[in-house]
Amino acid sequence: MEIHSTIDAMRAASRAARLAGLRVGLVPTMGALHQGHLSLVRTAKQQCDAVIVSIFVNPLQFGPGEDLAKYPRNFDRDCELLRKEDVDFIFAPSVEEMYPAKAVTYVAVEGLSEKLCGRSRPGHFRGVTTVVSKLFHIAEPDLAFFGQKDAAQAAIIRRMVRDLNLPVEIIVCPIVREPDGLAMSSRNVYLSPQERKSALILHRALLEIQKSFEQGEHESPKLVEAGKRVLAQEPGVRLDYLEIVDPDTLDPVKEIHQTALVAVAAFVGTTRLIDNVVLAGAKPI
Ligand code: AMP
Repeated sequence: MEIHSTIDAMRAASRAARLAGLRVGLVPTMGALHQGHLSLVRTAKQQCDAVIVSIFVNPLQFGPGEDLAKYPRNFDRDCELLRKEDVDFIFAPSVEEMYPAKAVTYVAVEGLSEKLCGRSRPGHFRGVTTVVSKLFHIAEPDLAFFGQKDAAQAAIIRRMVRDLNLPVEIIVCPIVREPDGLAMSSRNVYLSPQERKSALILHRALLEIQKSFEQGEHESPKLVEAGKRVLAQEPGVRLDYLEIVDPDTLDPVKEIHQTALVAVAAFVGTTRLIDNVVLAGAKPI
């Protein structure tokens, strides 16, 4: 496994792989790896000949007062995990390497970036699309792998790739959960034992909505109400949003006739968690 920290070295290695006829896959991450990340890596290993995992805590996608400084970092452990998965390349640049002084160029997917998490985290998705487009230009992958856990992010990246004709195929992989249903997240380490229990309410609310939908309720406001009633059972959990939206446009859906995304974000103590389920579509979008 090669570890690269410079853009030039990473690009040269990836180009060499492609020139040798290999199909190159990229898995962008912020490190602090868990089984959710590793499921993306495994899918990439199945579908590609050479897999690059990027590890970069991207300051551009954190707002003022968010958890950039305390975001969990464990590079040595991440490398060990990726070595066991037989990953070919790690790309772990410094902030200075990724953002030269006085960089003023951004990639923004207008409209979509202001929805869901974009509403409460202004600039977040612009930070994501800017860094992901940079990673695409550096690694030049044939395929790139993202998690359904960040469903809005996946929709926004798919749109960016379409709008800018980027020569990369986006693969979205299902959410990996803890045995009790909590969606895996690097931020789960922030939770106290009590908060860890309270956090289960997000998934429970989504399951309640799914159940109600399967029993025939297709009106979003009623489904959202049902979900909010469940969330209200946990006083330590403060809802940011619970919305039912089109999985591509992220626009609210009033009555569900086709695949819809139910997305939730909530603060458990000071930790902001997100989760989602897809209705009327068995496959992850
Ligand atoms: P992050 O390191 O949080 O930026 O996540 C890197 C990638 O892993 C993103 O595409 C996430 O959507 C994906 N990911 C994070 N958590 C999960 C999970 N529990 N299941 C599946 N994919 C995940």
